[in-house]
This record gives sequence, C-alpha cells and structure tokens, in this order.
Amino acid sequence: MKGAGAVTVPGEAARYTVGGVSVPVDHFVGGRWIGSEHRFESRSPLDWHGPVLAEVARGDATTAEAAVGAAVDGFRAWSAFTVAERAEVLNRLADLIEANTDEIAKVETLDMGFMYESMRQRLVVRGAVNFRTYAELIITHEERAWAAKGLHNTVQRMPAGPAVVITPWNAPFMLSTWKLAPALAAGNSVIHKPAEWSPLSAALLAELTVDAGFPAGAYNLVQGIGEEVGAALVADPRVRRITFTGSPETARHIGRAAADNIVPFTAELGGKGPLLVFADSDLDAAAHRAAWQYDDSGQVCLAGTRLLVEASIRNEFLERFNRHVDRLVLGDSRDPDTDIAPMVHPEHRDRVHGFVERARAGGDRILRGGEPVEGSLHYQPTLIEPVSNRSEVVQREIFGPVLTLQTFSDEAEAVALANSTDYGLSAIVFTTSAHRAERVGRAIRAGLVWVNTFLVRDLTAPFGGCGISGIGREGGDHALEFHSDLKTLMILDGSVD
Ligand code: NAD
Repeated sequence: MKGAGAVTVPGEAARYTVGGVSVPVDHFVGGRWIGSEHRFESRSPLDWHGPVLAEVARGDATTAEAAVGAAVDGFRAWSAFTVAERAEVLNRLADLIEANTDEIAKVETLDMGFMYESMRQRLVVRGAVNFRTYAELIITHEERAWAAKGLHNTVQRMPAGPAVVITPWNAPFMLSTWKLAPALAAGNSVIHKPAEWSPLSAALLAELTVDAGFPAGAYNLVQGIGEEVGAALVADPRVRRITFTGSPETARHIGRAAADNIVPFTAELGGKGPLLVFADSDLDAAAHRAAWQYDDSGQVCLAGTRLLVEASIRNEFLERFNRHVDRLVLGDSRDPDTDIAPMVHPEHRDRVHGFVERARAGGDRILRGGEPVEGSLHYQPTLIEPVSNRSEVVQREIFGPVLTLQTFSDEAEAVALANSTDYGLSAIVFTTSAHRAERVGRAIRAGLVWVNTFLVRDLTAPFGGCGISGIGREGGDHALEFHSDLKTLMILDGSVD
C-alpha cells in the first residue's frame, strides 16, 4: 500500500513532501531504496489530527535479513578504506549535514515535535560535529607499541563488523549521529533502525551518505516497528556490534539477543536525575534551571526531574521556581515565542498522565499542573510533592513535564536521596562551595554530574549511565574501542629483517 501523498518513481524511493522537504520513506539497503508491502503512519505532534505526514516502509524479518546481508558486503568495502579516506568521507557527510540543516530541522520538528530553533541551531549542528569529531579522532589516533620480553608489541584496532544501531524517538537526528559516527569511523558498516514515532530525519541522513561517498552497504537504514524488524536485526548472528538507546525494558530484550550471539552491546537508557539545590546556591540560577527541566516537555533522558532542595530554602526556591515556570509559553514548536513543545504522541501523553493520576490517588501533593492541555498534545508543567521517597513518581522515569520536589536537611541526606533510585544517568548540583561541589560530585552515583550548569559536554568525554541507566560508555575513544576488536601483535625481536 502506498499513501495518497506518496510520490513514486520506478527504481527510486517513494517520497513524501514534509514541510516543503522531499523525504524518502523506504528502506535504504545496499545503496538502494527498497519499498515495502506494509507501511506505518508518521503523524505530526504539532497537528495530530491533521493529514498524515508520511507512510513509511514497515520492515520485517526479510528486510532485516537483506539489510544484514548488505552490511556484510558493505563492511568488506568500507573497512578496506584507509583511515584518511574514511575521515574524508565522514567530514564530507558533516559538510552535507551543515548544508541541509534547515531542511533536517524542519522535518524533525514536524515529525517529533521538538523546538525548530533548537533543532536548527543546536541539535542538527551537533550531528555534523559528531562526524567531524570522529574523523579527527581516527586520524590522530596513535597505536601503542612497546618492547618487552624480547618482543615488539603493538596494539591495533580492527573494525568489528556490521553494527546494528537502534535509536529512540527523542532528538532522533542528533542521538543517531552520536552512535553512527563512531561505528562508521571505526570501519564498521551500520544498519540503523530509527524509532517508529520519529523515522523521517534518518531518511534524510541516509540520502546524504550517498553524496558523502560511502560505498554501497556501508550505511543501511531499515524502517519499522521495534518488536518486528528491530528484534530480527539484533537476532542475526552476522551482526558483530549492537548499540542501543532507549528504555531499560527494550534493552533487556536486546541484551538477551546479544547474549545468544555473544555480541558486545552498549545501552544508553532512561534517567531519573536529581537536581540538588543547596542553601549556598545562586538561588535564582538554580530555580531558572529547574524550571527549564520542562524543556521539550521533559522528554529528555538527562533531565533533572527530582528537585532536591535544602529544607531551609524550600519556600523561597519554590516561589522563584514558580515565577520562572509561569513565564514558560506552551505552543507550536515552529513559533520562536514558544518555550515548551508538545509531547510526541497521544499514547505517551496518556502514559505520563497515568503517573500523575496514580500519584494523586496515592496521596502525593500536586503543587502545580497535573492535567493534559485541551486541543494540543501539551501536558501542563507539573510539580509533585511526594508522600514518600518510594512514590512511583520519584522512583520511575516518567519522560514528560513532571518534576518532584523533596527536601533534605544536610549534605548526607541530599546524597542519599540523589542515589536512591535504580537509575544513574545524570545529576545536576547547585552550590557555590568548591569543597561541596567536589564532595557531592564524587559521592553521586551517575555517569554525568553537572555543577551549576547542564547539558554541556565535550564529545570526547565519556557518556553513559550506572545502574539501569545503561551499559558501557559512548563518546570519544570509548565508542571507538567498543566498535573495534583490539589485537595485540607480537613479533619476536631479531626474527625478521
Ligand atoms: P524504546 O525502548 O521503546 O525504543 C527505542 C528503540 O528500540 C526504537 O527504535 C524501537 O523501535 C526499538 N525497539 C523496541 N523494541 C525492540 C525490540 N524488541 N528489539 C529491537 N528494537 C526494539 O524507547 P523510546 O520510547 O523510543 O525512547 C525513550 C527512552 O529512551 C527513555 O527511557 C529515555 O530515557 C531513553 N533515552 C536515553 C538516552 C540516553 O542517552 N541515555 C537518550 C534518549 C532517550
């Protein structure tokens, strides 16, 4: 079935025009666009009941089989490129992303709802930087060599093979490049499976890989539903790496498949980050930052969703926090005056509301918000004071504009509360004391801790989570090592001319 809006030319991809941009909606396998008997709808969170944005190819086990086969061939070609040649292709892809930033941002905003200006100025640009960073890292990489026990020892990185890259629906373009860049830089071929709630920007990227100069099969894109084509991809024994970003529930399924085939697997999973505010903080900066945790309707894994505030300043903090939140404008993500974008999908908004309703029924106090917004996919910025640290809204990731407020009486209690969930992705701390910044920063169990700031990170620094927030680290050399098989080569001294 082809959608009414689809344009098809024999031998080419079916395409839809989305926000004035022509988007291919098929799979990209072995350097060719291939169609699909079945399709799924992509709708816009900005106009949910409006026309369907696109009908996208819905892959199955046969698609997965073909994509992995193409990636096996693509691996042979791409891994034979020299490091300098690989870097050149990656840099060309970065140039192409930069040249198409507006188009990618437009499509992504319509497809998943995040703010257009933030996409255009920050997230899509960061996508290009991801490829540049890895181009630089592979050409400046030094191999280790040493002499010991009469041997000349060197350590080499071998490309591992085809890698499956599975990504979530939030910030899909940037998050995908984050995983694709190191896999490709290492010399692996990739099969990318983007999320079914935001599949379109990945298709634009696939299209750019052709002009960038990747050989056929180095970069493959498979569209579809996670439990269908995603599960088939990760179960294929020809796959040699799996890198996943998404929920812990899905990671458990993928991890089982990885174990069956003895394939290394990294997982960037959910978060339930604390935002700690000590009495010695710049209170207005802390309140402002706390209010901004509603950004993108809280659909951000790194968000500091548990506000932990020193008891002596609770009321003053809350007053300032409310003042900042009152100023936030919920609206259309394309409008520069909007602060808060709609949620991605009605199903997700209902799920978020379910958390709030259960909290209300369980006796937690709703301090503000707590209802969906009529006529759009927004949810009111919500603040809940839980009856207990065991409340579900404190312990489980909600992934929406819902924060909790708890108080602590001293540093030890603050750290204990911060570390009291199964997650451990990130934390934000506000204090003006250098000693406290150091002590609390060290005591918190999380992959990333920001003090008096948020979200900034050099792309070469490690990124990942503790506990159920993930397995492994991305960023810089960490991701390159994951995508490589290390080899120690030992040559007996004096045995060769
Ligand atoms: P999800 O786990 O539902 O889906 C993620 C991807 O997995 C999608 O592409 C989906 O199609 C695929 N998938 C689902 N079932 C599968 C299966 N059985 N086999 C193979 N693939 C399968 O997650 P989501 O709802 O798309 O994303 C939200 C989650 O992602 C949140 O928990 C959020 O915190 C997390 N996240 C984490 C980070 C991070 O860097 N730590 C970044 C963004 C999002």
